[in-house]
Amino acid sequence: MKVSCLKCMNCGKEYKDAPDRYVCDDCGIDGILDVIYDYNSINITKDEISQSKDFSLWRYRKMLPIKDETQIPPLQVGWTPLYKSEKIANETGIKNVYIKDDGRNPTASLKDRASAIGIAKALEAGAKTICAASTGNAASSLAGFAASAGIKTVIFVPKRAPKAKIAQLLIYGAKTVIVDDTYDRAFELSVEITKKFGFYNRNCAYNPFLVEGKKTVAFEIWEQMGFKTPDRVYISIGDGCITSGIYKGFYDLIKLGLSDKMPRIIGVQAAGCNPVEVALKTGKFVAQSGNTIADSIAVGIPRNRLKAMRALKESNGTCISVSDDEIKAAITDLPRSAGVFGEPAGVTAYAGFKKHSNEKNIDINEKVVIIITGNGLKDIESAISVCDIPTPVAPDSKTIENHVKTII
Ligand SMILES: *Cc1c(COP(=O)(O)O)cnc(C)c1O
Ligand SMILES: [Zn+2]
Repeated sequence: MKVSCLKCMNCGKEYKDAPDRYVCDDCGIDGILDVIYDYNSINITKDEISQSKDFSLWRYRKMLPIKDETQIPPLQVGWTPLYKSEKIANETGIKNVYIKDDGRNPTASLKDRASAIGIAKALEAGAKTICAASTGNAASSLAGFAASAGIKTVIFVPKRAPKAKIAQLLIYGAKTVIVDDTYDRAFELSVEITKKFGFYNRNCAYNPFLVEGKKTVAFEIWEQMGFKTPDRVYISIGDGCITSGIYKGFYDLIKLGLSDKMPRIIGVQAAGCNPVEVALKTGKFVAQSGNTIADSIAVGIPRNRLKAMRALKESNGTCISVSDDEIKAAITDLPRSAGVFGEPAGVTAYAGFKKHSNEKNIDINEKVVIIITGNGLKDIESAISVCDIPTPVAPDSKTIENHVKTII
């Protein structure tokens, strides 16, 4: 078997691989598990990968924790574009800057990578109902994938989740509980209810298999760069699962002998909610109740912080934060430089990159990848808030002509 065990990050205790094993019995919710592979049993070559006609994350199926006979959900996820931006290179002087547009997934966020695996594991476990809490995107993603696989969902979201994300839930038919409180409280309630009703749990920080889905973004970056690992990857951090996934993906490639390098992973948080940055710099975790325009990363108690901090340390990376003003600037800067429109948390990594580049913190020869985690249409109110909506103009040719002269 390619998965040799599930190992507690906290105490090291090992558990047998099972689709419904979420955390360590001894450590509880602090005992997040790692999926440990027997790398010798995975036979895979660059040639074999490059010949795959499956343009989705399932092209890496051999490197994922699912059985040969496992049913996979039908929605196409992954193999999102990686754009090299000459314009950003010209603006910053950094010669090789790549934008990975993960807003191009079926429900428009990187969370779809986790949902694809989550639903495959739920089908393995014979689950009938899945339960999760989310700031919005994990929920809308799960709702879409569950609908495609014929599984019911019960979803907890905080009251501040943007309307477009709630619309996705309702449209996909998820049983939706809008908790009149923060994401952190919605998370606790979802864990409680999952236990009480015996649902299958899809919370990313909690369910060790979901990070395995998110790691495919690293595989794709490596393959799309010609089977080469970049020098740096910028990623926004909420719960820390994507950060952990990126590390795991590049770690797998090294263990499989397909790469010999770990990129520096640079986590970016919002200054209004930066518990991972604080914990990394002071060695002490303090829960926050902070706030930011970037709702997807407004996470005061990041559930996967230990894994994320390990990823940042072991990759010789770091965690920085950017202000809401910097995030707002990135909402328009990125599309105007690269044509990619991201939601606030989606462009936060780009804001972090800009900050590092302004501080001359990046060598101009480094190959830098910035992951855009969610599409801009997910949060129209924030997008509109950084633009001026033009007032309607009288519909006669002369007025319009004069008007056009004033705006060009
Ligand atoms: C969930 C999410 C993040 C943060 O990912 P974590 O795994 O929680 O750190 C960032 N951006 C978007 C758009 C997201 O939906
Ligand atoms: Zn443990």
